Amino acid sequence: MRFGHREICLEHDTGPRHPENPDRIRAIRQGLSKRHGVEYREGDLASRPSIDAVHDPGYVDDVEAFCAAGGGTWDADTVAVEETWEAALASAGLAAWAVDEAIDGADGRETPFSIGRPPGHHAEIDEAMGFCFFNNAAVAVQEAIEQPENGVERAVVFDWDVHHGNGTQDIFYDREDVYYASVHEQGLFPGTGEVLETGGPNARETNLNVPLPGGSGDEEYTAFIDELLDPAMERFDPDLFVVSAGFDAHRHDPISRMRVSTEGYGHLTARVREIADRHDAPLAFVLEGGYGLDALSDSVGMVHEVFDGREPVVPDGEIASKAERVLRDVRDTHDL
Ligand SMILES: [Zn+2]
Repeated sequence: MRFGHREICLEHDTGPRHPENPDRIRAIRQGLSKRHGVEYREGDLASRPSIDAVHDPGYVDDVEAFCAAGGGTWDADTVAVEETWEAALASAGLAAWAVDEAIDGADGRETPFSIGRPPGHHAEIDEAMGFCFFNNAAVAVQEAIEQPENGVERAVVFDWDVHHGNGTQDIFYDREDVYYASVHEQGLFPGTGEVLETGGPNARETNLNVPLPGGSGDEEYTAFIDELLDPAMERFDPDLFVVSAGFDAHRHDPISRMRVSTEGYGHLTARVREIADRHDAPLAFVLEGGYGLDALSDSVGMVHEVFDGREPVVPDGEIASKAERVLRDVRDTHDL
């Protein structure tokens, strides 16, 4: 794969004992250094207009001023230093690079994956939260749609991070041209992501929330893709497919109770690739969370390996009955 990385993303210093820290990116790069066919690109910093296209400009000014004054704690989880401003522009710019690259035809072994930080999916139109300042995936998708020569009229953001991407949902909730699909752990931060949140008045059925019970793993995630995401995409027919790829649903992640395995992320990747290919949709990955350094590094390495020819094992165990009920509820709500 082609990975988007910029050194400035390591300068976003969240202090000691913060789970979202530069060691995450170092661990990923260390893991990738042992694998074949890894390339790096730097991308450009996101432009101010591209950030303003999905965020309130007054809020963006506030983030800039906050960082220029040396940063501090925006909220209990979300902290900044002076370098955070440039890191946030770099992280959004890397996501935009990944989407551009995919639209320009990078696929197969060249499939792009941006590994910027801070992450993005909790950042709302006018608020930073959950370690996120700018919504990287949203900036990238919006920029792709705004350039008519790209031919992107309908985009999907599929968010497999263990948390609900309240920010991405907030930004695109009433947009019929952007489909947001999230599978997340019930009851976890930020507490949003209910099944009945299906889209705004102008965008019915373009928001798919699947709050799975804690303890769900490879089987349940696979069932979600087969029974819900795949048919939803048959209906929506995207011409751009962006994965908000967090790896905090991993069984060895310290902050969730989910049980996805490294091999399981491989299978999810293979299924996502199949769906994107079937719709001729360029496919790009954008890093979100993932806080167990080995689990994160192994999982990103697994995504890379799937594009390098590995055929991951298909999970074939039983689906837990509580998860089955959620899947059925979502299927009925969306008539899938
Ligand atoms: Zn997360």
